[in-house]
Amino acid sequence: MKRIIKCKNVIFFLCSVFCVFNINYASNIIGADKINTEKKGPGFEIAKEKKIISSNHNLENPFLILVNSSNPIDVNFVPPLKEVRGGLMMHESVARIVNKMIKDAKKEDINLVVLSAYRSAERQAQLFEGKVKANVEKGMDLLTATVEAAKINPLPGTSEHQTGLCMDIVDKSNLKLDYENENTLGYKWLLEHCAEYGFILRYPKDKTEITGIIYEPWHFRYVGVDIAKTIMENKLTLEEYIDIVSKAKK
Ligand SMILES: [Zn+2]
Repeated sequence: MKRIIKCKNVIFFLCSVFCVFNINYASNIIGADKINTEKKGPGFEIAKEKKIISSNHNLENPFLILVNSSNPIDVNFVPPLKEVRGGLMMHESVARIVNKMIKDAKKEDINLVVLSAYRSAERQAQLFEGKVKANVEKGMDLLTATVEAAKINPLPGTSEHQTGLCMDIVDKSNLKLDYENENTLGYKWLLEHCAEYGFILRYPKDKTEITGIIYEPWHFRYVGVDIAKTIMENKLTLEEYIDIVSKAKK
């Protein structure tokens, strides 16, 4: 028992150290003073050309809440929740939209299943701790295990699953959160249609250094239709989008 408590204390200490490190790291990436069109890549230029900044793009919009390692939310925050197909909970404003999207996909013989949706900070803590332990068992030292775990299971308060606005959704043929998802019809359908329902692929390929999270071809986040279309068409992340809009408003 004593050993478990000691281990938990060490994990907690490393989390704190990691958090401070990560906040500095992330603010360097998305900090306004660091904006550089070369670094931002083609998405940034395209977005500028198309003049995406219009009256529709208002950062006060509650569906634009940004939650990541440098923008944590209160661990006690609980959104208004409603059940989605499969019994999981999502933000009450989004649950109906998710159900409609699943229903519309079904009409085209696409079977989508939500594997994870709203998660409390407490649940997030359990997942994080489990991931650290699994990494240690794989032979990583505790610091590496903690850093790597945070790329997959963010620390409590830094996962956007706590907002109720996102979900892990897969094709019925592959009920796992792995890269086989890329080859499923469900994923292809989602990439093509998610924005019509206000969703974006939140952690795209090759954007880990901006989002801090690995590529996840199963994690979709609600931001509203107009913004989702802009983000998906321009291959942006939510961090990049918010950065562009806040710069333009200055
Ligand atoms: Zn997710």
